[in-house]
Amino acid sequence: MPNPIPFDNTYARLPERFYSKQGAAAVPAPKLLRANAALAVELGIDPAWLETPEALSVFSGNSTADGSEPLAQAYAGHQFGGFSAQLGDGRALLLGEVVDQHGIRRDIQLKGSGRTPFSRNGDGKSALGPVLREYIVSEAMHALGVPTTRALAAVTTGENVLRQEGNMAGGVFTRVASSHIRVGTFQYFYARNDANALRELADYTIARHYPDAADTEDPYLILLERVIEAQAKLIPQWMALGFIHGVMNTDNTAISGETIDYGPCAFMDDFHPKCVFSSIDRDGRYAWGSQSNIALWNLTRFAETLLSLISEDNAVALEKAKKALGTYKERFRTEYDNRFRAKFGMASDGPLDLVRSGLSLLTKQEVDYTLFFRHLTRGNRSELSALFKDPALLDTWYATWEAATQSAPDTNAMQKSNPVLIPRNHRVEQAIQAAYGNDFNPFHQLVDVLAKPFEDRAEFSAYEQAPKPSEIVHQTFCGT
Ligand code: AMP
Ligand code: MG
Repeated sequence: MPNPIPFDNTYARLPERFYSKQGAAAVPAPKLLRANAALAVELGIDPAWLETPEALSVFSGNSTADGSEPLAQAYAGHQFGGFSAQLGDGRALLLGEVVDQHGIRRDIQLKGSGRTPFSRNGDGKSALGPVLREYIVSEAMHALGVPTTRALAAVTTGENVLRQEGNMAGGVFTRVASSHIRVGTFQYFYARNDANALRELADYTIARHYPDAADTEDPYLILLERVIEAQAKLIPQWMALGFIHGVMNTDNTAISGETIDYGPCAFMDDFHPKCVFSSIDRDGRYAWGSQSNIALWNLTRFAETLLSLISEDNAVALEKAKKALGTYKERFRTEYDNRFRAKFGMASDGPLDLVRSGLSLLTKQEVDYTLFFRHLTRGNRSELSALFKDPALLDTWYATWEAATQSAPDTNAMQKSNPVLIPRNHRVEQAIQAAYGNDFNPFHQLVDVLAKPFEDRAEFSAYEQAPKPSEIVHQTFCGT
């Protein structure tokens, strides 16, 4: 019998100071909430196996699958600008890697699987809410076309965890990522002046994510460039969807360019560039409109860790790294402008003034971001007007839009870039609250509905709606 999960591990072969090997904590009464059959197939796992007691035992941490070598990864990170030389997987374990159907190596990780040497004062566990939130939002992001970690399984554990809100039902999440290497992983060794480890990590990262860099004269500079490129593509995608990550710390910035660590993240309802949800982001450091600059800040921290690899001559290394970082803004701009032109149905040389004036109108009129673009896409003028407190302001802007698109907007591009369905905060919150009351239907339905976010389906129109005033979620929590 082949192993149910065809593990083929490489991170575990790296030197011991990269991680701490250990197993998960046992939980009393695990139950499978949901498993992702389509993703399992991609990973070479028999989807029928997902429903077995053996799988439940693996996904809850009660047993170690054959071939799995569980370990907690070491990493550091700047959290809200302040550096911690040691963070690491305090409530997660890398079970191992598989090579998927496309030949891509993927990590399988448990989150909420108990204490590790990196747990500090934490219990290593997760409440059910954050498990469901990450399941819903990461799968929605994937369906929206955004590079992201994925959800393979979610289980309840049958034990409670103590959180600020009180005693909460616990859960374990199984996450799949093209790797869990973060900017913070590089910072961990940089902070320790561990040049050998840095080189080993950089070589590993190149081989795994950017193999074409290996054969160049400047592999570490190319690595930096590729990571800059990946972030400059990713962040405009978030922004075009109205997504706010919420905790863009360097430990939550994946080298692969995937969105990682869905904590207090959210999709905006009413548009505002300063929009923030995270209860811990009091200064708005990670607001919607600040995400571009923060990504550059994080990339600069990454560049610092690579300097000694880029050149033994620090001045040369600095020069090269600065030049690479200097390309970020332009790359970001191009991507951002293209995405917004598409959202407005404009040609590739369409006037950017219109994007700016459109967004500023949404801000002033406190208009729901997703609904605005959908009604614009549908050409539904009366529904569009109904979103505005002062429809006359819309009329003026609309005339300039019609002129710019010659009354023939690219509706195909608009349909592909303006989703009908996003994981609205109030829906996510309702699904979580229902689950705490043992009703998992809203969670399942939400995940199902969000799998096809760009399709107009009348039967799901309730999911399109903005929250009623009483339903608006003002803050989201890490829930750690
Ligand atoms: P995050 O909020 O996911 O970015 O986590 C930041 C750091 O806190 C990471 O090192 C986590 O492993 C750690 N952490 C968060 N929650 C817990 C917890 N419940 N127990 C132990 N460590 C945790
Ligand atoms: Mg994190």
